[in-house]
Amino acid sequence: MAVEKEQKSITWHWLRTLLKIVEEYKSIKQIIEKVKESLIEYTQIDNIEIHLIDDLSSRDNAEKGIDELANSDFFSRKVIENIFLHKEPSHISKNEIIFPLENSERILGLVYIKTPSQIDSVSFELLWSFMDQLAALIHNIILPQNKNPESKIQIKDISNSIFNNLKSFLEASLERLGALEEQNQKLVELNRTRTELINNVSHELRTPLVSIMGFSNILQRHEIKPDLIREASEQIQSAGGRLSRMIDDLLQLNRASTKGWVVNVERLDLGEIAKYVVESLSPLHKNYNFTFNYPERGYPLIGGDRKLIRQVIENLIINAIKYSPEGGEINCTIKDNTNEKKLSMFITDNGIGMTPAENQKIFERFYRAKNPKTENISGLGLGLTICKDVVEALNGEISSTSDFGQGSCFIISFNY
Ligand code: ADP
Repeated sequence: MAVEKEQKSITWHWLRTLLKIVEEYKSIKQIIEKVKESLIEYTQIDNIEIHLIDDLSSRDNAEKGIDELANSDFFSRKVIENIFLHKEPSHISKNEIIFPLENSERILGLVYIKTPSQIDSVSFELLWSFMDQLAALIHNIILPQNKNPESKIQIKDISNSIFNNLKSFLEASLERLGALEEQNQKLVELNRTRTELINNVSHELRTPLVSIMGFSNILQRHEIKPDLIREASEQIQSAGGRLSRMIDDLLQLNRASTKGWVVNVERLDLGEIAKYVVESLSPLHKNYNFTFNYPERGYPLIGGDRKLIRQVIENLIINAIKYSPEGGEINCTIKDNTNEKKLSMFITDNGIGMTPAENQKIFERFYRAKNPKTENISGLGLGLTICKDVVEALNGEISSTSDFGQGSCFIISFNY
């Protein structure tokens, strides 16, 4: 036999060589003798007994097999029954194991092995696989109909099966590594976005603050013309307004994401609210033209929260002003879809507009279109996120259409 003497630890290579040798044997007795002799001589195993069931040709051999093996007085009946039931090796002491010789769910016999010290888990697994291959070999000799080359156990098959197992294990590990790498990338990305956001928010908050500080410096001078006082205080007021709206947006979104929106539903006149909002924002839009395309009370009331709906319309109107040059036309239209029982408000401007790609993203948190036309317009990119959140909390819908350089239209709809 082409194995090195003095080899004491069990390796798959060694067991495979042994299998290759006994595969050539024609008699089971010869196989068993060779296996016993080699294991004792070349491994740490110092005792091995192999007991095969006599009538192996019968399929229904379990009970007969248990009786027979129990009568051999070598294994206790309880241990044998357990092995037949679970088809797994049984440790009968720290250094004694009984392996089943199992093939196609049938136990052909048992192998008792004794080692000087406790057997390690790798040797245990290797021996278990070896016993399975040995059982397949014995099975092929016992049943002549299985002796065709296809069903005969081949070393190549064993290697293939080991290779396939290893391959799937490696593939699964690689997949897991890939997933971890992806998660890692997402975290890195998230961290970068967070830093970017903090920078943007700080920058946007600082812009009106600088304006407030600059104009208050002017007001502190001794000799100052009344016109300049008015101009400075208007600028301070407008910058203060922007600052407070941004802080409100931040706080509101934070509150809503933890507690949700507090909604008090009542019957509301959408048109009346829009007129009220435009009126209250009049200092902001002295140089813009507003038109309202709806009759007074000629449309149904909707169910909603007054404060929240007012805020949505205010956001949309402020945007229409912000993103239109002075002299711009802003229009509010109400359409009643009586078939669907849906009331919609359209807020249209003829301002800078958006590209289709920008228009798709504007409801995302912190998104702001970046182009030469928006670079001097301040904001946090939260207003529309809040609008969408609120409108959806009230079971409504919000959408927008836009033409770059031509203007935009924002639509809010509610069922009545
Ligand atoms: P902010 O105005 O603070 O940036 P919003 O969430 O209100 O935040 O708007 C998000 C983005 O949508 C804006 O930065 C702007 O690019 C675009 N936008 C919103 N309203 C209009 C509008 N009426 N016309 C053109 N662009 C708009």
